[in-house]
Amino acid sequence: MEIKIKHLTKVFPGNPKKHIRDTIAVNDLDITIPDGKLVGLLGPSGCGKSTTLYLIAGLQVPTEGEIWFGDEEVTNLSPEKRGIGLVFQNYALYPHMTIYKNVEFPLTNLKVEVPLTTFYNFVVNYEYKLDETDDVELLQRSIKSLCKKLAIRHYTIDVTNINNGTFSVTISNVSEDIFAQYEAGFSKIIDAKSSVEKELSSEALFDYVVRFALSDGVDQKAISLLSKQFKIKSKEATHYVSDDGVAHFFIKLKKLSEEKYSLYIDAMKEKGATLIEEAKHQAVTYRKLTKAERKEIVYETAKLVQIEEYLERKPNQLSGGQQQRVAIARALVKRPKVLLLDEPLSNLDARLRLQTREEIKRIQQETGVTTVFVTHDQEEAMSISDEIVVMKLGIEQQKEAPQTVYDDPKNLFVAQFLGTPPVNVFEGEIKDGFVVVGDSKLLKLNDTVEDKKVFVAIRPEGFKVDSNLEYGLDANVDIIEVLGRDLSLVASNKHCIKPSFKAIISSEDKVGLGSIKLGVKPSKMFLFDVNTEERIYVK
Ligand code: ATP
Repeated sequence: MEIKIKHLTKVFPGNPKKHIRDTIAVNDLDITIPDGKLVGLLGPSGCGKSTTLYLIAGLQVPTEGEIWFGDEEVTNLSPEKRGIGLVFQNYALYPHMTIYKNVEFPLTNLKVEVPLTTFYNFVVNYEYKLDETDDVELLQRSIKSLCKKLAIRHYTIDVTNINNGTFSVTISNVSEDIFAQYEAGFSKIIDAKSSVEKELSSEALFDYVVRFALSDGVDQKAISLLSKQFKIKSKEATHYVSDDGVAHFFIKLKKLSEEKYSLYIDAMKEKGATLIEEAKHQAVTYRKLTKAERKEIVYETAKLVQIEEYLERKPNQLSGGQQQRVAIARALVKRPKVLLLDEPLSNLDARLRLQTREEIKRIQQETGVTTVFVTHDQEEAMSISDEIVVMKLGIEQQKEAPQTVYDDPKNLFVAQFLGTPPVNVFEGEIKDGFVVVGDSKLLKLNDTVEDKKVFVAIRPEGFKVDSNLEYGLDANVDIIEVLGRDLSLVASNKHCIKPSFKAIISSEDKVGLGSIKLGVKPSKMFLFDVNTEERIYVK
C-alpha cells in the first residue's frame, strides 16, 4: 500500500499568556512512501519524526494537508479504520497474559468479511459399519471440531442408527465451498460411503449501483416510491439533471438477490426509465474469527518473528529483544496494510539492537508490508531502510536511498547528520579555479566558478596519503588510532570548524605524527554555500 503525504502540516498551539510560541512540528511535508518498502524517518530530537508517524497513524490530526493510503484518503479516518500496525518504543505487553494471549488479543474483536453467497442445507447419509475398536463418542467429537474449525454454526450429528450401519450429519446454511471443505475434512476422520441431499437455504445477495435516464414526463415520485415497494433500503439515491438536460436517477442497492434486482429493473423500465449504467458486487457481511482461525494466525505470525517457543511464557520471562518481537507480532497479526515503528529498538542494548534491526528488515521483506520506521540513529536508519527521509525542524531535507543521501547530500545539515565518524567541515573558498582551505589548494576544478567563500566538507574516508601529491590539505597529525584494516588519524587544521578532524586511511599507508599533506578524493568532498548551507555542485 503506497502512502502519499501531501502538504502535511502540524502546528501545536502555544500559550501567549505564558509566552509559549506555536510549534510547527511538521511543515508542509510532501512525501510518497512506495508500496512494500521500508522508509526511515530520520532526524535529530524534536524534528517532527514522531509527529509525522502519529499523523500517518491517525493519532494526531493534521493542521493542514492530506494523507492517502493507495486510492483512499485517510486524513480524517480514526486509527482503527486505517488498517495499521503500530509498535512504540515502550511496547507495553500485557504482563498478566501469556505471549500467546498477547499476540492473539488484537484478533479477538477483528471482523472478517463473509460474502453473502448462495447457502444450502445439506444432509449427508453415511454407511458405516462399526467394529469393536470404534469409539462413537470420538467420532462425534471429531465431526464437532471439524464443524467448529470451519465456523459451521448449525449442524446435527445423528448416530441413533449407527449400530445398524448408518448415521447422518445435517449441515444448515453453508456455502458449497464450506461444504466441500467439510467433506475433505471428514474423509480424514473415517472412510465411509455417503450420499448427499442438498436444498437451497438462501440465495446469493449482491450490491448494485445503477443509473437511469428518465424521459420527459416520468413521474419522479413514482420512481422513488418503487424503491419503497421493493423494500430497498437504499442509503444513496439522487435525482439530477445532466449537461444534456436529461434527468437522471442514481441509486445504490444493497444486498439484493438477482431475482429481486431484475424485477426492480423491469418495473423501472415500465415507468419510463432507461438503464444506462450498472455495476454489481458480491454483498458481504462480517463475522468474528473462530478460535481455530485465530490460533492459525497466531502460530503463523509467531513463526515469522521466531517466538513460537515462548508462546506459553509471560512477558517478564522474555528478554528485551524477544519482547520487542512479540510487540511486532502483535502489530502484524491483523495483517496491516501499513506498519509504523516508532524508535522500536531504543530500549535494547547495543547487541540486541543490531540483531533486532536485522530481524525487522527480514520480517518486513517477508511480509512486504509498507513500513515507516522512526529513528534518530542514522546508522540504524541507513542499515534498515530502502529510503530515508532526513528531517529538520519539521521540514524534509532529502528523501532518497541511504547510499545516495550519504554520497550526494543536498545540504550541510544532511552531510553532517549522516556518517560515523561524521563528515569534516572546513571554512574554505573557491579561488582561481581551486578549492582552497587556508593556504592549501585541495583540488583544481574543471568547471569555471566565480571566487567565493564556501564550506568544504570531506568524509573521513575521503583523504589519501601519497608522497607525490600535487595538491592536498596541510594538517598536523596529533593521534594515530590503529583499527586493524584502517588507520584513523586525529588531525588538526585551524580552518576546521572543530578542534580536530578524522581521516580514515589504509593501515598500509606510512604516516607519522606531525605535519602531513592529505590528498582529497573528489567524490568524497562536498561544497556548500556559507549563507544558505545548500550544496554547490561543481566538478
Ligand atoms: P524525538 O526524537 O525527541 O522523539 P521527534 O523528531 O520525534 O523527536 P516530535 O516528537 O515529532 O519530534 O516533536 C516535534 C516538535 O513538536 C517538538 O518541538 C515537540 O516539542 C513538539 N511537540 C510534540 N508533541 C507536542 C504536543 N503534544 N504539544 C506541543 N508540542 C508538541
